[in-house]
Amino acid sequence: MTTRVPDQRVLADRFGRVATDLRVSLTDRCNLRCSYCMPAEGLDWLPGEQVLTDDEVVRLIGVAVQHLGVHEVRFTGGEPLVRRGLVDIVRRTRALGDHLDVSMTSNALGLARTATALAEAGLDRVNVSLDTVRADTFHTITRRDRFDDVVAGLAAAQDAGLGPVKVNAVLLRGVNDDQAPELLRWCLDHGYDLRFIEQMPLDAQHGWHRDAMVTADEIFAMLEQEFVLEPAEEPRGSAPAELFTVDGGPGTVGVIASVTRPFCGDCDRVRLTADGQVRNCLFAREESDLRTAMRAGATDEELADRWVVAMRGKAAGHGIDDETFLQPARPMSAIGG
Ligand code: SAM
Repeated sequence: MTTRVPDQRVLADRFGRVATDLRVSLTDRCNLRCSYCMPAEGLDWLPGEQVLTDDEVVRLIGVAVQHLGVHEVRFTGGEPLVRRGLVDIVRRTRALGDHLDVSMTSNALGLARTATALAEAGLDRVNVSLDTVRADTFHTITRRDRFDDVVAGLAAAQDAGLGPVKVNAVLLRGVNDDQAPELLRWCLDHGYDLRFIEQMPLDAQHGWHRDAMVTADEIFAMLEQEFVLEPAEEPRGSAPAELFTVDGGPGTVGVIASVTRPFCGDCDRVRLTADGQVRNCLFAREESDLRTAMRAGATDEELADRWVVAMRGKAAGHGIDDETFLQPARPMSAIGG
């Protein structure tokens, strides 16, 4: 009888970080057109044959979980809810282990219809992107008139037990940067955990300018005019958000200051794009092609080996502040945010 020796490999880089949190982009398509993410006309979507099939994406998640120590899987995109096989992919991911933390980042369009099925399939939590609670500003930012759908999706997620429900918001100067306290009040009233994300140079149009972005310091200053913020006691660990209790708690607010207060030293994330490329960082300029290897017949062991090698090249930091910084060729929507 042979005893199975547990796989000892991990996704370690040269700086001692180990990736255990896998972000899986299920599609590069999206049904919103957020101005800071993509142009009004959309993008050239990936050709269908390049996108991983449901079987392929589940297989690669399995390689990460069973061979490489990944224990968090977050589905993203593009918009994961537009992926037809989503519920089944969640169910098959959950079947990889009860220990897995399985979540999704979504714009919540259509979530009102699918939240229960997703929860039953084994999804633990959702993060919903919502930059404003004013329908007209929502339309200005997303170029779509779908604010009510997002609100309904959030409520359905809460009812289905996909909590704690988090809301991610990006502030844009001159558009919604006067709405931070209002958004926080709304989230507190509804029991959602709000996180502000600093705008990053990941838009398809390359329109990001450091001078124009709303910084974490500005966000704190705006919030502190109306709320008392105190650093939350729970240890931050590898979480991207700096967390604060609001008015003594229990409500909290977080700020993800990727640009002005980078947290790369604690990063435990790795990304798989919808077309089967491993990216060791959002800002990486290189990818490692697992799809071609998989379709050429690579075994799970061989795919795991490639993944390990891909992680070794992870840079110490995203380098946005370096003079030589170059924005990655793919925008956020194609990488998986
Ligand atoms: N469609 C899903 C959603 O809306 O959450 C998932 C993909 S979206 C790219 C993931 C997150 O990235 C959203 O919260 C969005 O606001 C954020 N995002 C997109 N472009 C960004 C940028 N340039 N800087 C910061 N965050 C960005």
